[in-house]
Amino acid sequence: MYDAAVRDTIDRFQETGSPVISDGEQAKPSFATYPIQGLKDLAPDGVIITFADGHTRQLPRLTAGPFHYHAYAATYLDRAKRHARVPVKQSVIAASALSLLYPQEGIGAYSQEAFLEDLVREAETDIRESLRKGAYNVQMDFTEGRLSLKLDPSKQVLRSFIDLNNAVIDRFSEEQRKRIGVHTCPGGDMDSTHSLDVDYAELLPMLFELKAGTFYIQLASEPDRPRVLSIIKEHAPPDCRIFVGVIDPIDPRVETPEEVRDRVLEAAEYIPVDRLGTCDDCGFSPFGDDTSTSRQTAFAKIRARVEGTQLASKELGIA
Ligand SMILES: [Zn+2]
Repeated sequence: MYDAAVRDTIDRFQETGSPVISDGEQAKPSFATYPIQGLKDLAPDGVIITFADGHTRQLPRLTAGPFHYHAYAATYLDRAKRHARVPVKQSVIAASALSLLYPQEGIGAYSQEAFLEDLVREAETDIRESLRKGAYNVQMDFTEGRLSLKLDPSKQVLRSFIDLNNAVIDRFSEEQRKRIGVHTCPGGDMDSTHSLDVDYAELLPMLFELKAGTFYIQLASEPDRPRVLSIIKEHAPPDCRIFVGVIDPIDPRVETPEEVRDRVLEAAEYIPVDRLGTCDDCGFSPFGDDTSTSRQTAFAKIRARVEGTQLASKELGIA
């Protein structure tokens, strides 16, 4: 069943003309928990994430060590690449998200230090396998970065998240890091977000300390895009590539290609065009059971992104 769903998604994604595609995470139970699906040492009562509309998602809690992944993202990449004729981007969950599995009260003899060591090794393997199997780019989903500022304005949690994810990225060569990207967003689930009210000015300077080659930054749903773009301009490392979100997956209205074009031209005033790309703000249904956006709407939006980006490229003289 998953294979048919993946094939259909890949086919329709390719029909939009997008130069790089993904499997839409069709086969994952959720963007965050795919590595631990089926693990035995888990209890259901872990960290709770609250969205703006009041609905919640709860992570499991680890009950025993040693920690290891039950599945790597590369298994999804294999399925996607069987059907794909263009490069495939593979998403992986950031180590920082899975660090939340470890309970505050500790786990007997299995220390948090030992857990984090296991976690960094597993997160590294998750990325390394996807690179080895030919992912065009590996995107680390880091939605909890912005959320952490809501829960801890002192930024100590964000600091620990950045350090942990850099401990993973540090294990790769400079050449490999060019193919590793980081995605930031205010969370998207059932037409709601968890941290859109957190100011990007608080997050982005520290986010750009991550030693990734590419940043995928939600921007379409920001109330003040020029302000965010000027923060990016000021703080992004000089050699990284910036993909700005030009499509809002939560807004049911399909953007027009002209709107997308204008968003790209706006971004090009702040980011050199040879380092600028476009993406969707976030996944269309990061959790497997979220059906708030129809597939028809999702692909219409992706098509608008592709067409609008082409219009902008022409205008900028690079197409
Ligand atoms: Zn996202």
